[in-house]
Amino acid sequence: MPKAIVSLNYQLCDPNQCDQGVCRAVALCRRKVLHQEKPFEPPQLNSELCLGCAVCTTACSVHALMVLPW
Ligand code: SF4
Ligand code: SF4
Repeated sequence: MPKAIVSLNYQLCDPNQCDQGVCRAVALCRRKVLHQEKPFEPPQLNSELCLGCAVCTTACSVHALMVLPW
């Protein structure tokens, strides 16, 4: 089975739409793949740690996070 990892579309990501600029997806990832330096900035990804579980994608209302085959 091919490995899948999370991908962030930076053109779709708009932290202004998230509560107080905090990325809702960050807290959902138990692998801590997602990291937000500060509110109102897009999250950064440490994709090598990603399990491809897609839990984080459910948090993003603009569908900026996707799990793609790697
Ligand atoms: S990835 Fe989605 S939930 Fe996270 S900051 Fe961007 S728009 Fe908000
Ligand atoms: S797909 Fe799963 S492991 Fe990967 S960043 Fe999202 S929640 Fe974390």
